[in-house]
Amino acid sequence: MKTYSYGKQHITDEDIQSVVEVLKSPYLTCGPKVSKFEQAICDYTGAKYCVTVNSATSGLHIAMLAAGVGVGDEVITTPITFLASANCARYCGADVKFADIEKDTANIDPEEIKKHLSAKTKALVPVHFAGQSCDMERIAKIAKENNLIVVEDAAHAIGSEYKGSKVGSCKYSDMTVFSFHPVKTITTAEGGAVTTNDEALYKKLLAYRSHGMHHTQDWKYDMIELGFNYRMTDVQAALGISQMKKLAQFKKRRREIVDFYNKNLGLPHLIEREFSDACFHLYPVLVEEREAFYHNARKVGLNLQVHYIPVHTQPYYQTQGYKWGDYPNAEEYYNHCISLPLYPDLTDEDLQEIVKRIKEIL
Ligand SMILES: *Cc1c(COP(=O)(O)O)cnc(C)c1O
Repeated sequence: MKTYSYGKQHITDEDIQSVVEVLKSPYLTCGPKVSKFEQAICDYTGAKYCVTVNSATSGLHIAMLAAGVGVGDEVITTPITFLASANCARYCGADVKFADIEKDTANIDPEEIKKHLSAKTKALVPVHFAGQSCDMERIAKIAKENNLIVVEDAAHAIGSEYKGSKVGSCKYSDMTVFSFHPVKTITTAEGGAVTTNDEALYKKLLAYRSHGMHHTQDWKYDMIELGFNYRMTDVQAALGISQMKKLAQFKKRRREIVDFYNKNLGLPHLIEREFSDACFHLYPVLVEEREAFYHNARKVGLNLQVHYIPVHTQPYYQTQGYKWGDYPNAEEYYNHCISLPLYPDLTDEDLQEIVKRIKEIL
């Protein structure tokens, strides 16, 4: 029996060739492919600057540092996300505040953000869940009125648009972070990128990525801030350049799959707002008996995943004062959600087969 998981990379011979070429070249890292990939992301998103990194987690960390987030500050994000959206604030010693989600999109609710603002709030980290942009105009307005930095966690959302602007353009934010982990829309194996239109932030991101070093003259450099080695390699960047060329095709196929499920499954799913043109990363549905559904799906060859266990309920965040019951919409969503297979390699026959198997176990 053919098995299906919720997500999978799409790698072609052309991708493989581009990686092999780098392996035969003089530069495995810190070479021309990294700048070329960064330029490709700028060209695509319309952002002025891009800094690639070795993961979106690293990207979120240096975005927080560049934003000046530190001890005594608070950062607001959503509980329905991967751990890194919250952890990046903790790496800098800041406290995490969560704001509950909208039931119909599972994105952070701007009205909920307002409830958690305080004099200590320094930054907002909205997450474009499943690929659909948050309502960035409303989030930008809250940020402006309260003098906050906005870092978009766009790990799910390369290729997506909000009100006609590409996610990553930073039209409504200070920085945007992408992930190129293999389950995401394009991949560099591990990898990420931060975009911004602000030159000062750009320079800080560059420094934090590479030990806080600032080249002065000849062999000389000054280490100004405490940075890291978060650099992407040229091997990864070459794969990224090659994958970017297929982004439009990936986006088209991902939407076809979502439309197919919407039409043929009849299961409750997230809705897409007027302002969004999403490049979908996930297709979560809501089922009555999620535990049973998960196990029955495995029996018919569907290896599905739950996105996400609400971050505030993790044992670590419980030590930070959170508990089950704090965010009812997020918890209700979590109790019923499960993500179906969504990746460009799925054929029309695969989709028919997946829908057939799901109907068997419902
Ligand atoms: C995958 C993911 C990350 C982390 O990305 P890595 O590249 O694996 O570090 C961060 N935020 C969200 C929402 C993600 O889905």
